[in-house]
Amino acid sequence: MNDILKRLAFKYFPLTINEILLFIRYKYPFSKAIAHHLKSNYFYYYQKKNNFSLINTDNVLIIAPHPDDEVIGMGGTIIKLLNYSSDVTILYMTDGRNGGGHGILPDKLKIIRRKEAISLGKRYNLKQIFWNIPDVVKSQNFCIKKYLTNNNYSVLKMVKLLEMIHPKSIFITSFFDFSVDHFSANKILCDAMDLINLFSCNIICYEIWNYIPIPNCVVNITNEHKEKDEMLQFYSSQLKDGKLMNLMNDRNKTRHQLYLNGNIYGFSEAFLKFSKQSYIDLFRKFLDVLIKTGKTNPKLHPYITYK
Ligand SMILES: [Zn+2]
Repeated sequence: MNDILKRLAFKYFPLTINEILLFIRYKYPFSKAIAHHLKSNYFYYYQKKNNFSLINTDNVLIIAPHPDDEVIGMGGTIIKLLNYSSDVTILYMTDGRNGGGHGILPDKLKIIRRKEAISLGKRYNLKQIFWNIPDVVKSQNFCIKKYLTNNNYSVLKMVKLLEMIHPKSIFITSFFDFSVDHFSANKILCDAMDLINLFSCNIICYEIWNYIPIPNCVVNITNEHKEKDEMLQFYSSQLKDGKLMNLMNDRNKTRHQLYLNGNIYGFSEAFLKFSKQSYIDLFRKFLDVLIKTGKTNPKLHPYITYK
């Protein structure tokens, strides 16, 4: 009986079932908060899933908390944007000195990672901005010190950048990602946008460590996938154990099978796309849930503390 139910469920609700399986497989430190948030805001997320429209994508700002995030999360989409001659600027918020350096000391690693990003930028003719803030210090996967926060310094720097570029699309790491820096980037962007009235744009969240629970936008990057692999090779300091490459390929294959064509081998990148105001509202609602559950869960403190 169970088997029949399972088969029926997969036949008629394959996406929903697969989303639940992904949610269980890739554990989030704040799974309960995400489930609670999605339950109360289901209709904002569960829109018809679209192929990403690359029309009107001039003035694109990509916010990468660490050098390499932009390639892992949306390298294929970057190639597409460049083919449409979009004006692409990448902001690297931290220098990544405390990231996966496989024994390289932080002061040396920050120089290596910056050089890697610059080489990528030269190859693809990208505009790049480096804030050079140190990234989080971790111990056994727990954040023990964070530098990237929504203090006045970073929020005002973001305001200046937005006023200079006037982006029509802003890509940023998803706020469902457990990386503290990826989450903090969203706080900085939200606070900065609160200070600027006269500009409207789309905010498009991309995936790095954790799957976005219900993406509403999927880009087929099957044709760009090989080049995306080559892009990631620029960040060789991060590739020594092969984990990043596997993560990226596994995710892009899964997204393609879930959303575009389960029967054909291919690769896709998944996103959450919002208007500026929906993004601010939903991020703040999610933060409120984290603050409430964080009172009794010390693991959440790095995400909810301010400044
Ligand atoms: Zn990152």
